[in-house]
Amino acid sequence: MHWYSVRIMRKPVMAGNWKMYKTAAETSAAIAKLAPMVAAASHVDVVICAPFVNLPAAIQVSSATKIEIGAQDVFWLKEGAYTGEVSARMLTAIGCRWVIIGHSERRQYFGETEETVAKKTVAALEAGLKPIVCVGERLEQRESGSTEAVLEAQFIGGLGALTPEQFAGIVLAYEPVWAIGTGKTATPQMAADAHGFLRQQIVNRFGAEPAEACRILYGGSVKPDNIKALMAQPELDGALIGGASLDPASFAAIVNF
Ligand code: PEP
Repeated sequence: MHWYSVRIMRKPVMAGNWKMYKTAAETSAAIAKLAPMVAAASHVDVVICAPFVNLPAAIQVSSATKIEIGAQDVFWLKEGAYTGEVSARMLTAIGCRWVIIGHSERRQYFGETEETVAKKTVAALEAGLKPIVCVGERLEQRESGSTEAVLEAQFIGGLGALTPEQFAGIVLAYEPVWAIGTGKTATPQMAADAHGFLRQQIVNRFGAEPAEACRILYGGSVKPDNIKALMAQPELDGALIGGASLDPASFAAIVNF
């Protein structure tokens, strides 16, 4: 049987990005409320990405649940005189399993580049974390017709140097910057087109099988009332959700779409 006659089942990931919103106590309370609401979602990986300082509380309260915990950033070196930074080994040591890398807010406000995304991704993988690597175009880039060029440059610059074995450990997130926190969602077709383009980049760089296996999430104003239409696109393997993940009932409605 040739490889392309086998459709690999990609388990969806629903990842909440709690950005800089909750205290540790609020984090614990929200996860405790969320856990029973998503307990039956065996078909989905459920992840909450919390600020560093809230990770121990999040990990403790989610320990006997199906919710896994991620960080929102990581530094690329193992240790050293880097005041304020957190290493991948520090994250795995406390039970953190996932990490968001290259979120557009980090690219926009904190100088994240393709080079830092590449270094952070390798460091995360070496420590055993599952990176959710974000790419996505800004509004003016979409309007000028350069979406695909931007995605290609971000993909090649951020992930192009990985080995196929390393690449197998990542989750990709397509997040058009103009859709993040704005209430403007990409249409399901726009998202599917971008995902299809990214999957073709994976084919070109790593081959057809890694491309078929890679989970690509959509992010940008995902809500309980648009998740069904988005997930009806076979190219979408889940979502990275900001605002609508903060409320347990709303996030649970997305997970249980
Ligand atoms: C995000 O922060 O990655 C995000 C997609 O935010 P929102 O869902 O609020 O647009």
